[in-house]
Amino acid sequence: MSILTENYGISEKLEALSEKLEAECAPQFEKIEKIQEYNQLWVLDCFRKEKITPAHFAPSYGYGYDDIGRDKLATLFARIFKAESAIVRPQIASGTHALALALMGITKKGTRILSASGAPYDTLEGIIGHKSFVEGSLCDMGATYGELPLKNGHIDLEKLPECAKNADLIMLQRSRGYTDRPSLTVDDIEQASKLIRAVNENAVIFVDNCYGEFVETREPIEAGADIIVGSLIKNAGGGIAPTGAYIAGRADLIERISYRMTAPGIGCEVGSYAASYMPFYQGIFLAPQTVAQALKGAVFSARVLEYFGYRASPAWNEKRGCIIQSVCMNEKDKLCEICRQIQAVSPVEAFVVPEPWAMPGYSDEVIMAAGTFVQGASIELSGDAPIREPFMFYMQGGIVYQQVKAAILCAIQNMNGDKL
Ligand SMILES: *Cc1c(COP(=O)(O)O)cnc(C)c1O
Repeated sequence: MSILTENYGISEKLEALSEKLEAECAPQFEKIEKIQEYNQLWVLDCFRKEKITPAHFAPSYGYGYDDIGRDKLATLFARIFKAESAIVRPQIASGTHALALALMGITKKGTRILSASGAPYDTLEGIIGHKSFVEGSLCDMGATYGELPLKNGHIDLEKLPECAKNADLIMLQRSRGYTDRPSLTVDDIEQASKLIRAVNENAVIFVDNCYGEFVETREPIEAGADIIVGSLIKNAGGGIAPTGAYIAGRADLIERISYRMTAPGIGCEVGSYAASYMPFYQGIFLAPQTVAQALKGAVFSARVLEYFGYRASPAWNEKRGCIIQSVCMNEKDKLCEICRQIQAVSPVEAFVVPEPWAMPGYSDEVIMAAGTFVQGASIELSGDAPIREPFMFYMQGGIVYQQVKAAILCAIQNMNGDKL
């Protein structure tokens, strides 16, 4: 008897099969570990070079003038992402907030915005305000917006130069988000950036880096991006940061964005945080390891689910550009069961049973599973799906691989146990 059979209800047959499939994942795991090693040593070296000390963890109050913890955290992120400058703040409430702040900081009346990787992430619709009028959106500010649709799931490199000529701000989204296209790799971003630069020296290349950090050994700034944005309750927080987001890139752009964040002329000089900055430092330090755990969990999940005939994207042995895994579950019951097991094999609220519900803003019912320490943290194991054909399931995160493994095995035991 093992702990999986005894405490998690996995049959001996399924456990034996899982060991065989896990062994097949070894070459993928090795690649992930190599990337983790590089990124971990890089981040560690950045900590050494920035001379991080306990004084940087201290809380601050009031205006927060001379808040060395806040300022050092920004310098550390800038070094890690090879950027000239950065903003890292607990007060930025989400990835969407950071994207809005950065876009609004850069945009002026007449700015021509181009999304070069097709339709952007859902929550950007309101920020841009191109579909319907949104008060205070980029379009309301006087910007114009265009989209270059993806071609077979990839950036349309043929049409890109022509479109890029007439744009001032060009957006690229690294992660696949909740769509059925491959993520952009850093090489893809580099290729697109070169094409853009060849026809337009001044356009700002803006990368939504959410879910992409530390998946590869390079980050978008190295590949030609001017500005990157990400959430701290995703990859860059390492599962430890309790809230917040970052923006990193060219110093002149960061300054403009900082004027939008607080006030023109004041920028990054103010802002206190009455709790310790330690979890932000610890989070970015642990992030390469956390991302590797999530990636291994995704590879194993894809391997097992593919074995039982479900279509996984990316496939278990495909190159990954972000931590999202989608799986076509084919039936509503199976989709709900996998969500129930993700929830049931969680450290927090394992006793809660997720149900599909009519969430405001969505046309179909949605089911969500997340038993996370940090509310809504999608670097922790979480899954969700709209209830519609072909019943696509999206999962991401997992700060410990073993939890992802157990959750997927519990789902398979209940969905397909009779076929073993
Ligand atoms: C998660 C995500 C966002 C938005 O971040 P929130 O923290 O959910 O607001 C934006 N873009 C991409 C690609 C994301 O994955």
